[in-house]
Amino acid sequence: MTSPESNSTDFIRAIVQDDLESNKYDGRVVTRFPPEPNGYLHIGHAKSICLNFGVASEYDGGVCHLRFDDTNPLREDVEYINSIQEDVRWLGFDWGSHLYYASDYFDALYNFAEQLILDGRAYVDSLSADEIREYRGTLTVRGRESPYRNRSAEENLDLFRRMRDGEFEDGAHVLRARIDMRSPNLNMRDPTIYRIRRATHHRTGDKWCIYPMYDYAHALSDSIENITHSLCTLEFEDHRPLYDWTLEALDVYRSQQIEFARLNLTNTVMSKRRLLQLVEGGYVSGWDDPRMPTISGLRRRGYTPEAIRTFCEHVGISKRDTVVNMALLEHCIREDLNQHAPRVMAVLNPLKVVIDNFPEDEVLEFDAVNNPEDPSMGSRKVPFSREVYIERDDFREEPPSRFFRLAPGREVRLRYACYITCQDVVKDPATGEIIELHCTYDPESVGGSTPDGRRVRGTLHWVSARHALQAEVRLYDYLLRDSDEEDEDSRDFISLLNPDSLQALTDCQVEPGLANAEPGNRYQFERQGYFCVDTRDSRPGAPVFNRTVSLRDSWARIEQSQSGGGS
Ligand code: ATP
Ligand code: MG
Repeated sequence: MTSPESNSTDFIRAIVQDDLESNKYDGRVVTRFPPEPNGYLHIGHAKSICLNFGVASEYDGGVCHLRFDDTNPLREDVEYINSIQEDVRWLGFDWGSHLYYASDYFDALYNFAEQLILDGRAYVDSLSADEIREYRGTLTVRGRESPYRNRSAEENLDLFRRMRDGEFEDGAHVLRARIDMRSPNLNMRDPTIYRIRRATHHRTGDKWCIYPMYDYAHALSDSIENITHSLCTLEFEDHRPLYDWTLEALDVYRSQQIEFARLNLTNTVMSKRRLLQLVEGGYVSGWDDPRMPTISGLRRRGYTPEAIRTFCEHVGISKRDTVVNMALLEHCIREDLNQHAPRVMAVLNPLKVVIDNFPEDEVLEFDAVNNPEDPSMGSRKVPFSREVYIERDDFREEPPSRFFRLAPGREVRLRYACYITCQDVVKDPATGEIIELHCTYDPESVGGSTPDGRRVRGTLHWVSARHALQAEVRLYDYLLRDSDEEDEDSRDFISLLNPDSLQALTDCQVEPGLANAEPGNRYQFERQGYFCVDTRDSRPGAPVFNRTVSLRDSWARIEQSQSGGGS
């Protein structure tokens, strides 16, 4: 595993450090995380959260604001406001008293707009949306000035106030910044800063029927909050001139926008629009479906905040867009759970084994280690009786070479218990399906001793049939079959959905001790992977487990092959 990129070395932290040394902001470090409450947070947001809260926490008096960018009432909802706060807290960050809403600034933003109008730097345009688009031009075609561009300040002010007072239909007019229709940067060709939209806002109700556009509201919100470093993703690089223009035109406090590469991950989608499509189309069970790359989905899947933070640290901060392999995220949770998750035995596809020479009513109890990585986690007792379940895959009637598990006439070890030898295979006469195995055990081998030094090559996990608890286990695979390049417009990502991303096994048999498992508890099922008790569907006595991740670490293999040491 490569060492995590050190926190102190990325280019943003270098800028913050320089600014402190030159006393650019009087020694202040104030960042913000500014989600729009139009969806649940995803792992990409976690990168931004770790950066913004992380940078602030590294300096005495550093502060990170949580600000809801709630300027578009049509798509926003309190459900999202609540989930976002829960997710940021769960990730381990605290905004203290610094919870803000762009909508709190609607009065201020309105007054700033009047000031721009009075200064001749904004005008009411009465072209239709289509006409505005056409007049704007393209990268190769210069923009043209709207015939309304030279209205007098008085006329603009009058129209803008009447827009506010609800005199006009949606779309009849907009307020535009008066910048430069010939700018090579399309964002500077008189961008719209206010539009009419009759919609009830979740905080301001029906007070407003005009709403500010994102770029305008965002720059001014940063300024109002005295943000020092406004960290955002690279797609906003072309918006920075507008950000700077807005603050300069109004002669207000200047925050500094700095862009970094967004997080992209293989085999999943990472835009709220697409995630919403999955939820609304019923392709997943909700925003917190364990296959979703949302924070709530990852939490339900069994991810820990520590693993997500470690992942973000590994990914690091740069100016270059890359696609990170999902195997790295899995690697991080595996490392964490390997240390902390207790191990238990669970049989996912049970095959009954009858141990013919074991007394009918006898029960033995064996000591099982909870986590060999951490002796302080102790041990537990596991009951053993005449009938046990093993994994169907652990038996082959005709074993191929290098299959060291159970086969007719072959001896294996049952973990913590004893050696058994397969004597007979019982099949359903109609289907030929194997129904049960008959075995004998060697009493000399009980409790881990090796009679006459005899070695066996296979060790199987098992559960006593009489004591076993029935459980449902949900196995997950990637949401998308192929890596999605996030070509927002054209690709039909629905056709890339993996039809086998969820497999529910309803007849699993697990250790009786798991009857006490609490929702959210995490375990290693020996030889199977890491699992977590589902927080939604699990019931006392009828647990449902989500597989967080398998034991196979494909990241280690990827790293090995990249460093030339692959086998
Ligand atoms: P999406 O593109 O997924 O719909 P968004 O950018 O519309 O997300 P916002 O609510 O505006 O979502 O995002 C809040 C903050 O999170 C922004 O500062 C944004 O730059 C950052 N962010 C969003 N997606 C990512 C990502 N994949 N990697 C890093 N930061 C991100
Ligand atoms: Mg956004």
